[in-house]
Amino acid sequence: MNSYSEILNKLGPCGLNCSKCFAFANGDIKELSSELKKSLGNFDIYAERFIELLNKPVFKKFPDFKVMLNHFATVKCKGCRNDECKLFSACKVKQCSKDHNVDFCFQCAEFPCNKHGFDEHLAKRWITIQNKMEDNGVEVYYNEIRDLPRY
Ligand code: SF4
Ligand code: SF4
Repeated sequence: MNSYSEILNKLGPCGLNCSKCFAFANGDIKELSSELKKSLGNFDIYAERFIELLNKPVFKKFPDFKVMLNHFATVKCKGCRNDECKLFSACKVKQCSKDHNVDFCFQCAEFPCNKHGFDEHLAKRWITIQNKMEDNGVEVYYNEIRDLPRY
């Protein structure tokens, strides 16, 4: 069981799980991408050969795949509470939660508000997450979702 303060390093005040974000420096997407990059070694040369040798045109896509893999393997975000978010430039929740002196929006008297800055899809997700945290507690919520993909 993670302590409340450990969980605060993983979940933003909106409740989204930074540790499962592709941009998180200590996340499993980065870690697994780095491992795969290492395991592939000099696969570029082989990918080119395999197009004809194995008659597999799919290997033509390896250079693009590698660009994506390199991206995932070099991300550096320290998470919402320790860094600037690289994804949601319109998000108002981070500053607003500080102004309201709450760790999560469900702890705020104004929740659910219209100050979040999210689009409709994200706003619905925000409300669902906050309600779950309020109903079951932050620790229970985190332990339910900690190993699930964010996407
Ligand atoms: S702060 Fe934003 S970019 Fe960084 S890990 Fe969290 S969701 Fe991803
Ligand atoms: S006003 Fe809205 S966005 Fe700001 S902390 Fe309260 S619930 Fe969250």
